[in-house]
Amino acid sequence: MKLTSGTKTIINALNAHGYEGYAVGGFVRNVLLNIPVSDVDVTTSATPDEMLEVFKDFKVYKTGLKHGTLTVSACGENIEVTTYRIDGGYQDGRHPDSVTFVTSLEEDLKRRDFTVNAMATSGDEVIDLYGGQDDLKNKLIRAVGNPDVRFQEDALRILRALRFASVLGFEIEEQTAISIERNKHLLKNVSVERIFQELNKLLLGKGVENVLLKYSSVIFEIIPELKACSGFLQNSVYHAYDVYTHTAKSVAYSSGDRIVRWALLLHDIEKPSTYTQDEKGGHFYTHQAKGAETSIKVLKRLKADNKLITTCYDLIKLHDIKTEITRPEMKKLLCKYGYETIDLLCKVKLGDALSHAEPYATLRKETVERFSALATSVEKSGECYTLKMLNVNGNDLKARGYKGENIKEKLNFLLNEVIFERVKNQKEELLKLI
Ligand code: ATP
Ligand code: MG
Repeated sequence: MKLTSGTKTIINALNAHGYEGYAVGGFVRNVLLNIPVSDVDVTTSATPDEMLEVFKDFKVYKTGLKHGTLTVSACGENIEVTTYRIDGGYQDGRHPDSVTFVTSLEEDLKRRDFTVNAMATSGDEVIDLYGGQDDLKNKLIRAVGNPDVRFQEDALRILRALRFASVLGFEIEEQTAISIERNKHLLKNVSVERIFQELNKLLLGKGVENVLLKYSSVIFEIIPELKACSGFLQNSVYHAYDVYTHTAKSVAYSSGDRIVRWALLLHDIEKPSTYTQDEKGGHFYTHQAKGAETSIKVLKRLKADNKLITTCYDLIKLHDIKTEITRPEMKKLLCKYGYETIDLLCKVKLGDALSHAEPYATLRKETVERFSALATSVEKSGECYTLKMLNVNGNDLKARGYKGENIKEKLNFLLNEVIFERVKNQKEELLKLI
């Protein structure tokens, strides 16, 4: 297996001092899959003190030294080098109580989560003690050792199994899957920060639909508010699926943007609670506004970043707005929410449209595309749709004797006139108008 030059340099340095060194985990997995490698992890028989000696002429970062990790810079790469170790128990399900350094590669590989993540190489052959290569070929995520024991040690591995299945487009091996179902309640002991990180990656995977649907019970462990959507029928000609299936499909059919995918995961979360029925079928009046509120609650609990929370709120609130709108109406939207959010809204609407029943999926897709083209056209044209773009400002009005609230009111009036093309965005014309 071909190593990066930085990895080779590091392993050579370790070997020169009489220590073992192997590239391990995600690097080996991704090279065997022929997909890009994000970062290289090296595992070594050298203890932290011995590593400091080996790498004394390298630039190093001692951030993880307590856990045996030294980040070493070589050939422009930052590589995490970690002493062979096993993790002590996870009493709190969050942090290993302790780490114990060990002397053999075999022991180090044994503590790793999945067979496809438990392979190592020094550049020659691949050391594969648990059948990782077979599982890669068969596209399977399988726990190393007894899955119950492994998930009970660290329940985050349950979500990591889902994450790797989603990102790699793999299935989860049967015994591992059964164990996930049996142990999913342990996720409540895992810190939300770790959960949120894995969920972000899971949502972006190419196998996300399959994972959200097959392992919905795990998702509901983390987001119980979604549970009522499962199997909830919509009684509508527009829909072919229950709310949760539609949700999972909408996530999968959308572009690979994190915010868009979160918004779609939560966009119909209040459909069950707002359901009403008449002779025309099922309705979900106000599920958009209510869903937006609930998304705040869910995302805050997951300690999501503010940008995600506030943008999801807008996107969910707006996800059903009319797409057949005029240019001035689009300008009003852009003024209120900004182009970035409206662009994301187009992506949300597209994922949502595509997971409707035919022919509505195709029809809606077309109107969303027109809506999107209109937004882009306004944005590119440089036409005025915000106060900032208006060719009159507060000072101009102050100079004409306007004060305080009155200034704001007049500026908004002028902006509205410009947006509806009743006056040109020219200073003199605008001033004439007031
Ligand atoms: P990515 O491409 O996302 O970085 P990765 O496989 O490198 O994938 P990391 O989370 O960076 O994943 O972890 C590096 C390696 O450490 C894994 O491949 C696995 O061998 C091991 N590992 C990480 N987290 C755990 C865990 N919770 N339990 C057991 N082993 C783990
Ligand atoms: Mg990694």
